[in-house]
Amino acid sequence: MKYAQIKEYDIADGPGVRVSLFVSGCRNACPGCFNPETWDFDYGKTYTLETEDRILRLLMPEYIEGLTLLGGEPFEPENQSVLVGLLRKVKRIYPKKTVWCYTGYTYERDLLQGGDKHTSHTDEMLSLIDVLVDGRFLLAEKDITLLYRGSRNQRILALHAAGPEGNCEDSGAVDAEQQIADIAKGDSNWK
Ligand code: SF4
Repeated sequence: MKYAQIKEYDIADGPGVRVSLFVSGCRNACPGCFNPETWDFDYGKTYTLETEDRILRLLMPEYIEGLTLLGGEPFEPENQSVLVGLLRKVKRIYPKKTVWCYTGYTYERDLLQGGDKHTSHTDEMLSLIDVLVDGRFLLAEKDITLLYRGSRNQRILALHAAGPEGNCEDSGAVDAEQQIADIAKGDSNWK
C-alpha cells in the first residue's frame, strides 16, 4: 500500500486532536474531490512496518484522541488488507482511543456481506472502527458549514461506542512503548 500523507495533529477529521493517515488509491472518482492525486494507487510513499511504528508512536500522547483513516479510499480491497493490521494494533495498544474512517462507499450497500467492497478483512475492519463517515462526495450537496464531512449526503455512523462528539474520557497509553516494542518483535512476517 502507498500513502499520501500522515498528519500528526489533525483537528478537522474527527473530534479532538488526531493522527490521520491518507492512503493512496480510490476508484470513486467523485467530481470536486479534495484530493484527486490520491486516486492513484502508486501515489506517495510506500507504507512499511516503520510507517506503522511511527503511527503507533504518534498516537501515544494523552492529548491525541485517536486515529483517522482517509484518502484515497481505505476500503479499496488492496488497502483493507494492510489497514486491518494497523487497526488491530491501535485497538490493542490504545483501547480507549477512537478510530474514525472516511469512505466514499456506502456502508450497507458496499461494505456489508454481499457488497462490492466486502472482503475477508472488511468485517474485522468495521469492528475496529468507532465512527464511519460514508458516501461519495457530491458537489451538488457540498456544504462548508458541515462538521467532519464535505457534502450533506455523507453520513456519520457511530458503529461502536463513540459518536460524532467523541466520548473518550481517558485516552490512556499505559505501557504503550513496551507494547509497540513487543508487537515489532512479532512482526517478522510482516510485508
Ligand atoms: S471517495 Fe474521497 S478520495 Fe475518493 S474520489 Fe471521492 S472524495 Fe476523492
